[in-house]
Amino acid sequence: MFDERIVASFDDKETPFYYYDLKLLNQTLKECRSAAEGHKFHIHFALKANFNQKVLAAVKANGFGADCVSGGEVKKAVEVGFDKKQIVFAGVGKSDAEINFALDNDIFAFNVESVQELEVIDQLATAKNKKASVAIRINPNVDAHTHHYITTGLDENKFGINSWDLPLVYDTLKSCRNLEFLGIHFHVGSQILDLNVFKSLCIKVNEMQQWFEERGMPVKVLNVGGGLGVDYQNPDENAIPDFKSYFQIFADFLNIKPHQEVHFELGRALVAQCSSLISKVLYIKNGIKKNFVIIDAGMTELMRPALYQAYHKIENVSRMVEGKGFKAEGELNLIPHTSYLSYDVVGPICESSDCFGKGVEMPETKRGDLIALRTAGAYGEVMASAYNLRPAIKHVYSEE
Ligand SMILES: *Cc1c(COP(=O)(O)O)cnc(C)c1O
Repeated sequence: MFDERIVASFDDKETPFYYYDLKLLNQTLKECRSAAEGHKFHIHFALKANFNQKVLAAVKANGFGADCVSGGEVKKAVEVGFDKKQIVFAGVGKSDAEINFALDNDIFAFNVESVQELEVIDQLATAKNKKASVAIRINPNVDAHTHHYITTGLDENKFGINSWDLPLVYDTLKSCRNLEFLGIHFHVGSQILDLNVFKSLCIKVNEMQQWFEERGMPVKVLNVGGGLGVDYQNPDENAIPDFKSYFQIFADFLNIKPHQEVHFELGRALVAQCSSLISKVLYIKNGIKKNFVIIDAGMTELMRPALYQAYHKIENVSRMVEGKGFKAEGELNLIPHTSYLSYDVVGPICESSDCFGKGVEMPETKRGDLIALRTAGAYGEVMASAYNLRPAIKHVYSEE
């Protein structure tokens, strides 16, 4: 991904910054879209993964809808110009103001996460003399086998409505006159690479839609959420996820009726690989047991490692030559440099968890070298914080 021309273009840029490869982003979006089109699947992009202006513009231009988990995201989606009839809104804690904003904008669906929320949406819709379209988010009790902080579909999680509460949901839907039942919604977790998880989900979705249809409630929308993972270890070899195999699972295992639409909410899979956090080495600290590389980006710019022990591939791009390994200072570019050292790569923030990687093998690294934290396009920039009074994060974009 980083040839010498790109690295040279970083010379005059102030670090740290997110570097966006817009060409890769567009390729990823196109592949996803064409894989989905064959099945007539609808894709909503999960804004919480990345709401960078240029990213959203590319997502919208490729015909995707928006998946929002806050009123702020619904507002952003509307402002950016997403088709309102392609906006869905989930979240366990929607405030009255957020619900009202979404009602005023006639979004496609509220993905509702509790019986009480159904009643509140009905009341607020009644006050506006409107009908709110709702999908019931059901907790499928499917284990996504990912980190426990990003698993959402188990009985013990706060998300969705548990299946034993469905009779109450049914009664509530029957008694609420300003709700229109669209269908059912699921989201089992994130960074899922084992496609069997999605097979299990399909089986659950089939059971649940039957439950509603048996009670005379047609299910028009099957929304299976997102969660498809990416290859954090090999960002160059697997830059674009295997969307074909992913969608094929749903085509094969979901019981899709002619009157039904299938919706997806992908975040990470669409944007993770298109961005790297670029940072400069401030200091090298050689300890007895460890060598530290201290860089000018911290958990304030990329929180995933500190938050859920996430792995990001770390590269010294200043000493990298495309296809030739690495070079040492003063050597010709053509000579592969073999002297690798082991480093702990850490940020400047006053927290011990502000560490991007331990025992990272890199060519001998010097002050001023540029370090890339790869696969940072999803849940990276969006989580940036001002802790330690850090300045706002910057971006650099590739040519398209
Ligand atoms: C976060 C989220 C998504 C997207 O998850 P990814 O793992 O990024 O694909 C989809 N739907 C809902 C409801 C979410 O909260």
